[in-house]
Amino acid sequence: MNKEKIYRGSFALLMIGVAVFFLFAYPDKKELRYFRNEGHIFGTYYNIRYEAEEDLQEKIVARLNEFDSSLSTFNPQSVISLINQGQDPATDKYFEQMYRMANYVSELSDGAFDITVAPLVNAWGFGFKNKEQVTPELIEDLLLTVGYENITLEKHHLLKQNPNTMLDASAIAKGQACDVIAELLSDEGCDNYLVDIGGEVVLQGVNDSGSPWRVGITKPQDDPTGATSELQEVIASTSLCMATSGNYRQFYYENGLRRSHTIDPRTGYPVEHSLLSATVVAPTCMQADALATACMVLGTLPALDMIEKIDNTECYLIYAVADSTAVVTTAGMAKLLAR
Ligand code: ADP
Ligand code: MG
Repeated sequence: MNKEKIYRGSFALLMIGVAVFFLFAYPDKKELRYFRNEGHIFGTYYNIRYEAEEDLQEKIVARLNEFDSSLSTFNPQSVISLINQGQDPATDKYFEQMYRMANYVSELSDGAFDITVAPLVNAWGFGFKNKEQVTPELIEDLLLTVGYENITLEKHHLLKQNPNTMLDASAIAKGQACDVIAELLSDEGCDNYLVDIGGEVVLQGVNDSGSPWRVGITKPQDDPTGATSELQEVIASTSLCMATSGNYRQFYYENGLRRSHTIDPRTGYPVEHSLLSATVVAPTCMQADALATACMVLGTLPALDMIEKIDNTECYLIYAVADSTAVVTTAGMAKLLAR
């Protein structure tokens, strides 16, 4: 081997060494770590955890605000509020997505789920307007404005048959917002995240210990403050959309009658049956959220029957029996429960 070859060989080795040094000393990618963002949005909390190179809270809050300006009935300028005020704004993608899913779940549930329930929700004191003195006549009057068949979406405008019809997306929007944030995180390149908005959840991948995320199903306990939350079950998963509706937090007593925030749009009255909470797992959280509310309106057995018929959708229903509670689930739910 002549000197020149040795020289060339060493030079090449040196250059490889330098390249390797720079690769490790100055990686072009920042390191991944887990972040946790918490706050309040449309009258509830959000708790979002994800693995990323940097904190994404600003982007998350911007997206939540964009969503709020479409579907929050507490924001007087939102698309849904303008529609409720009798104006005719152009509908946006969030509104249209919500409308289509709401319609689908209304049909599946024979009208048990219905976003046009708004005037009734308000009259019973659970909505965006003050409670009214409820009389059978008032309910009869309000029922004239209720009915998902009486609204249609055409060319980005909502057409109402009755100008007094109002919409309430509260039973579907939290789940939809979870999907919207999950999509944002996924677009940002995150493989591992958990999005919890007011108890509705989308999760993907693993937590900061490298294990599947774990989420709980809360034991129904009469507690309007929501301060106590014992878990009834835990689900461990690497891919899940889940929503729970319950009648144990939002209720009041009037003349000895318990009034819950789930209203049957067909009768105009708050539901009064033994189903305490409905947890639904579905392909999207928006669908899970709407179906969970539909279950609460239908009651235990009709709810189970409805969910059994829908593909890739499971439910866990907790109902009251004497002084205790009992559970029924769809066949596929058992596989999800971590025991
Ligand atoms: P939570 O997650 O708070 O238990 P839900 O997802 O069940 O609640 O939504 C309950 C809210 O949905 C009520 O406060 C009311 O605004 C609205 N709502 C009540 N009854 C119905 C119904 N039959 N269909 C659609 N929305 C409803
Ligand atoms: Mg719901």
